[in-house]
Amino acid sequence: MDLRTVALCGVLATIVPAANCTPRTTDNSSTAPHEHVPLALRADGSPMVRVLLRSDANGAALAISGPFQIRQNSQIIFQGPELPRTKIRVDAGDPQHFYLGRHRLPVAETIVLPQKPGTLVMHLPTADGPARRHRYNGYGVIAATKNQAAAPSVELINVVSVEQYLPGVLTGELFPSFHEEAFKTQAIAARTYVLYEMITVGKNRHYDVRASEASQVYRGIDGLDPSSKPSRATLATRGLVCTWNSPMGPKIFCTYYSSACGGMTQKASNCMPTRSIPPLGGGVRCDYCKVGSSYRWGPERISKSELTERVVARYPALESLGQIRTITAQNLTADGRPLKLQLTGESGEQFLISSYAFRLAIDGHRIRSNHCKIVDLGHDFEFRDGRGFGHAVGMCQWGVEGQSRHGAKAADMLGFYYPQSSVTRAY
Ligand SMILES: [Zn+2]
Repeated sequence: MDLRTVALCGVLATIVPAANCTPRTTDNSSTAPHEHVPLALRADGSPMVRVLLRSDANGAALAISGPFQIRQNSQIIFQGPELPRTKIRVDAGDPQHFYLGRHRLPVAETIVLPQKPGTLVMHLPTADGPARRHRYNGYGVIAATKNQAAAPSVELINVVSVEQYLPGVLTGELFPSFHEEAFKTQAIAARTYVLYEMITVGKNRHYDVRASEASQVYRGIDGLDPSSKPSRATLATRGLVCTWNSPMGPKIFCTYYSSACGGMTQKASNCMPTRSIPPLGGGVRCDYCKVGSSYRWGPERISKSELTERVVARYPALESLGQIRTITAQNLTADGRPLKLQLTGESGEQFLISSYAFRLAIDGHRIRSNHCKIVDLGHDFEFRDGRGFGHAVGMCQWGVEGQSRHGAKAADMLGFYYPQSSVTRAY
């Protein structure tokens, strides 16, 4: 039984399903090396989480500003007093190996193990500029896997204790100017979310969460020190999670949250593959997010050709529509949010798509939410009367900021956005 499982069984046994507390029998190789991990990197009493930093790490680089080991299959491949910036590379002509600087390594899970906390640095390539440099607690894993007769896939994972991971999430998810109590509220929601992902989807894959909006934005430990708001809020809420009284007793749940609900939260089952439980049932009226700039948004104009291009890039099956000519809102919720959109193409063919998926296919930042009107202007579509930013399920981050400014407390705000839930100590 690995450390992660021990921690989850021991301290969360009362609030997670017992069935989830069985030792992993498969795909636990990235947690197996814990016995080699220096105590300083893991001994804070919270479970270790595996955060996928990059699904394509070809061209990324790493460095360690102190003593380190590179290990494969429990063997030290090489080690030294420090690792200068070293590039990860694959070669289409060499499907059995990948390259770490001048070292040619067999395709296998590779542990990048600093001996001192906070000395691991990753240089992650960006689409439109120089590589971004981040420093991390914990250790790194290069998950290299074979592809048939092609270059191997290399993924970059940071394995770090939950309590050391959370400040990097708060930095990524909230503005530095947010109220201290908003940081505490976010810390509890983010802790619950990551623990839930670990005991559900994480059981069947080699990472638990992504370091992006697909899970929670995570920026490592850049700019953090013990006196920073994210660090203080994490410490002040250590081990606290949201639970609800399921028929089988208190349990944690997937604490979805988004930037601004725009007036009312929606139920999770409108857009997530999840069943409706009371905390995710939506319908919470919230005008507190008026303090943010996304309470109302728009108009936002996009040409029909660009819109079609973006939607087809995500859903190639829609190519047969030709250019999308009209969009009709369907399945409106009580507060006017269209759940489905009927697209009609130049060929006359029609397609019904979820408005949630449609928005993300276009650009989730440009079209801030699916709660808007879509007006046909001939050459363009215009998105008007937009409300909120994000999916509007669960906690409203700007709403929490608005309420915090009026003295609300974290536990009350979490109970407000996740009805029938309460804050419980997991460890
Ligand atoms: Zn709100």
